[in-house]
Amino acid sequence: MLRITEAVQLTDTGRQREANEDSLFLGPPLFAVADGMGGAQAGEVASHLAVEAFSAADPDSAPPEELLRTTIEAANRSIYELAQGDSSRSGMGTTLTAALLRGEEISFGHVGDSRAYVFRDGQLKQITNDHSLVEELRRQGRLSREQAADHPQRSVITRALGPEPDVEVDTMTFRGRDGDVFLLCSDGLTTMLSDEDVHAILRREGSLEKKARWLVRAANERGGRDNITVVLFSLSGSEVDPDATEEASPDEGVTLIGASAEGAGLTAGAVQAAAAEDAEARAAAAPPPRRRPRQAPAAPATADERTSWPKRILKTIVALAVIALLAWGAVTAMRQVWFLGVNDQGEVAIYRGLPYELPFGIDLYSEQEATGTEFSALPEDRRGVATDHEWRSEEDARSLADDLATAATGVTPSAAENTTGTGDSQSSPDDAVPGGNGGSSGGGNAGQNSPPGSSG
Ligand code: CA
Repeated sequence: MLRITEAVQLTDTGRQREANEDSLFLGPPLFAVADGMGGAQAGEVASHLAVEAFSAADPDSAPPEELLRTTIEAANRSIYELAQGDSSRSGMGTTLTAALLRGEEISFGHVGDSRAYVFRDGQLKQITNDHSLVEELRRQGRLSREQAADHPQRSVITRALGPEPDVEVDTMTFRGRDGDVFLLCSDGLTTMLSDEDVHAILRREGSLEKKARWLVRAANERGGRDNITVVLFSLSGSEVDPDATEEASPDEGVTLIGASAEGAGLTAGAVQAAAAEDAEARAAAAPPPRRRPRQAPAAPATADERTSWPKRILKTIVALAVIALLAWGAVTAMRQVWFLGVNDQGEVAIYRGLPYELPFGIDLYSEQEATGTEFSALPEDRRGVATDHEWRSEEDARSLADDLATAATGVTPSAAENTTGTGDSQSSPDDAVPGGNGGSSGGGNAGQNSPPGSSG
């Protein structure tokens, strides 16, 4: 039985909007994120109505996908009717992405361009498909991924709750796993951060609460052009004999169950169990599987291979010498690389080596000099260069550090804090820097030479 171990939420107006039109619902085992649109507070009303429908839903009242779909459809109708009856609210709408855990299975209901992701086995996978113009063009092969990411029309959505009396809802279910972390978010996060950025933050050591703050902060540091909403929850517990069935996982594509099948009580779990029984029955009836053919025996040694012992020893020595030479070259090359980062005291520091960590806490870099420049005192638009870990020459790194020191004196720390958006604007070094692999740092405060946010 899987259970939800941690569930957190964070929503932020961002840097450029006056109001927050996002809404969210956090009621384990049910979660939802909605991103409203429409002027004169209509967006707020629409997204609020959408999540309100979830707060009223009984998570056990129907098969999960049916429950998600009917709740979203009901929310759509109430938003549509309100918009019809009030001209100031005509055209209002909202996205809605919801998740429900029941037993071993996690189900999603989705309309619009908010997103659900799963972080599993160190990999991040988007679960939902955006219902947006740009995403449809991308799926048709008419835009590349890069073009889609920067497209001026990327916020145009093709499906929403509110504009029409009926809405088509995507639903999907797959089997959860111990350790899964799910992310629901509005596009204010994903238009500011790439999947790689989100991945780098989720794989850092730290609580989900910290990760939610890092995500929102990173989106704000990239410009915070839209409202940012994040819901994160994690699963733990034993699965029912995970090896017994071919489980549907987000890697293999979700198990899609039609409304009619589900209405008849046929859930994703039932289908999988039936498939597993079927496979077992077939295995019992079939002859034992043939073993993989053995590897062909090695061909008899040729004259060249029957090298005499002295020659073999010579070959080994040459090989070792080449390896040593390569290692020496690599170390020398690494010594030529410098970069800027932020040390555990929250100061901009100059590092030498490659900005990566190997397993077992082996760092490929060392701190050369703390510059005394507080990261939190840097103006917003200069913070990026202190955390991007771009490879530089020593001269370049030092002159950039000087440059940042000058920039920091132009802005008082309190003024910098005031520009960091609403909510949690305390900029501890741990919070300040998104990205990175955490590695040995246990949340960023351990390990003297660990620049936070080293992106691997
Ligand atoms: Ca938005």
